[in-house]
Amino acid sequence: MNQAFPTDIPSILQRIEDIDPESYARTRNFKNGSVSHLSPYLSRGVISTKQVLESLISKGIEWTTAQKFVQELAWREFYQRLWQSLEDDLFEDILQMRSGVSNRMMPTSLLNGSTGITAIDEGIRELKRNGYMHNHLRMYVASLACNLAKSHWPMPAAWMYYHLLDGDLASNTCSWQWVAGTFNGRKYYCNQQNIDRYFQTDQRGSFLDQSYEAIPKMPVPDTLRELTSFQEVIRLPNTPIPQLDPSKPLYLYNSYNLDPNWDKSIDANRLLLLEPSHFRRHPVSDQVMDFILSLANNIDGIQVYVGEVNSIPELRRFSQIISKEHPAFRHYPGIKQERDWMFPGLSVRHTSFFRFWKQAERKAKNGFAKKGISIPVS
Ligand SMILES: Cc1cc2nc3c(=O)[nH]c(=O)nc-3n(C[C@H](O)[C@H](O)[C@H](O)COP(=O)(O)OP(=O)(O)OC[C@H]3O[C@@H](n4cnc5c(N)ncnc54)[C@H](O)[C@@H]3O)c2cc1C
Repeated sequence: MNQAFPTDIPSILQRIEDIDPESYARTRNFKNGSVSHLSPYLSRGVISTKQVLESLISKGIEWTTAQKFVQELAWREFYQRLWQSLEDDLFEDILQMRSGVSNRMMPTSLLNGSTGITAIDEGIRELKRNGYMHNHLRMYVASLACNLAKSHWPMPAAWMYYHLLDGDLASNTCSWQWVAGTFNGRKYYCNQQNIDRYFQTDQRGSFLDQSYEAIPKMPVPDTLRELTSFQEVIRLPNTPIPQLDPSKPLYLYNSYNLDPNWDKSIDANRLLLLEPSHFRRHPVSDQVMDFILSLANNIDGIQVYVGEVNSIPELRRFSQIISKEHPAFRHYPGIKQERDWMFPGLSVRHTSFFRFWKQAERKAKNGFAKKGISIPVS
């Protein structure tokens, strides 16, 4: 079991309790900053951004203190909303860059964690060990891959997604595009001084030990020249044929919806559907799959089924098939319930987070002003 990310509900709820928004705002970019480590549970739909927001409001925290943390939660919603709007185009370059891509693979030294940059190599080891990487390190890694090694973002993004317990196709794809410049036209660069400051290292003479003016102009560093093709396969569990009762509703869960409280009082069939077609397109590691299955244990009466939705036994006999709306699972039949958004009714038609945030912030502020009252719809 992954000690860093327990899967029982009391431990998960404790993480919500432990959020310290004041310290978060000051320290989130640092190695040992007060980050929440909630992303694996948010990504997997065990808890919702709305639930976290309501917890902060109910504690009587002031808006000015909570603001930074709420803004970060809003990034997750923004990217999900953008996926709803762009659909599959999310997985293409959102903006065409005229220059800067020379290969569609990824540097071997990133795959192996042998770049020679101590903080980055340690971060990659941690990613493989615990399925987590600090946000700032994710940015460094993506910058090395896309902007120094000139790799097109999809393959290294798929590599990172494969290992992340919090793997979220919207946050992952958009963040990689953001670093690579195909999100808003600006590339993100880092240097050794920045890494040393935030990750408590003191490294001199590395290929990143350069000024911000020099880094974008430098040739591909030797250590990033060797390229590898990342092509992992998914190992799905063997599951028995589920025993379903078509006289009761069928609730469909998936790797992005593992909500243990979803219509809990309803007597229903509950099925965690692991579609091979989805995981072939977006493979995850054994560790991630174990995490998903372990989180599913929190759902009373759930059965796990590896198969496509149309191959669920006796599917046509169910008068009610219910799932939660999600861009990856548009093809499910039946009713799609709204997810628990912090900002329901706020859609996104552009890549400017700050246009989204302007509206979202007003609603959030309002919720904090009313103390404990959930945020009004639209
Ligand atoms: C290259 C790259 C790839 C990424 N891939 C993913 C991914 O696959 N899945 C994923 O959940 N996040 C991804 N992120 C965003 C971010 O790194 C993680 O959400 C964050 O590090 C999770 O740790 P935490 O829960 O401790 O975050 P905290 O800092 O405690 O933040 C609280 C919550 O706010 C949200 N959040 C914070 N930062 C971001 C951000 N930059 N973008 C979107 N939401 C954010 C998350 O829901 C997070 O759980 C990626 C970022 C980069 C730069």
